[in-house]
Amino acid sequence: MASLSKDSSLPDYSEFIQRIYGMPNDRFYTLWDMLDNVQRFSMRCVKGIRKNNVEKTKHNAMIAFSWYTSLTNRLHINVDNAVWNRFPYLCSYCGEAPCVCQAEKVKARRKVVGKKSLKPRSVHDVQIMFARIYPPGTRTSEHAAIHLAEETGELSEAVHLYMSDRSKKYFKEVSIEAADYLSCIMGVLNSIGIDAGDELSRMFYNNCHDCHKLPCECTFRHVCNYRS
Ligand SMILES: [Zn+2]
Ligand SMILES: [Zn+2]
Repeated sequence: MASLSKDSSLPDYSEFIQRIYGMPNDRFYTLWDMLDNVQRFSMRCVKGIRKNNVEKTKHNAMIAFSWYTSLTNRLHINVDNAVWNRFPYLCSYCGEAPCVCQAEKVKARRKVVGKKSLKPRSVHDVQIMFARIYPPGTRTSEHAAIHLAEETGELSEAVHLYMSDRSKKYFKEVSIEAADYLSCIMGVLNSIGIDAGDELSRMFYNNCHDCHKLPCECTFRHVCNYRS
């Protein structure tokens, strides 16, 4: 049996998703199918915000996060490093925590230098880091959802560009957009007061969150029709 705890790290999570879903992902899903599912569940999460439905928002955010991890696993992106390189406990644009992009009308990206000793260890700590950089009290949950939609599009665009020439340059872009996407999933969860570490341990207490098998035995059709 495989499970996650409240203190699981991003590498623990990537490894867990690989154990449970690596085989069905390789057999059933192309990179595009996985990207499609990231988009599908991200948009369901956005809908949850519009409907003011915390349960729907949370559940779809966690499933989007899971598909995102399958996608980054397929591309062998180290999400933990990608996030830290982009957000070293500081905003990736203004280089401050909390972010001053709006207040100071920052027009150009500043040099961002973080302290390695602050690197978060668990998913829970990564979420806290994002709450410090982008305090949820300074924006509405709708704003957080719009930002998630925007970054979902940018991740998709980066994957398309990378697949058009498979160059190092565009692979780097995918890593950057993957970090931005994760910051927005955390942003939405922060805006509705949900702890990702708690949710992961609740959802993945026993293998796949749906069929509870290792590896997952959910059929392709079942996943296509999955509603939450
Ligand atoms: Zn900023
Ligand atoms: Zn399953």
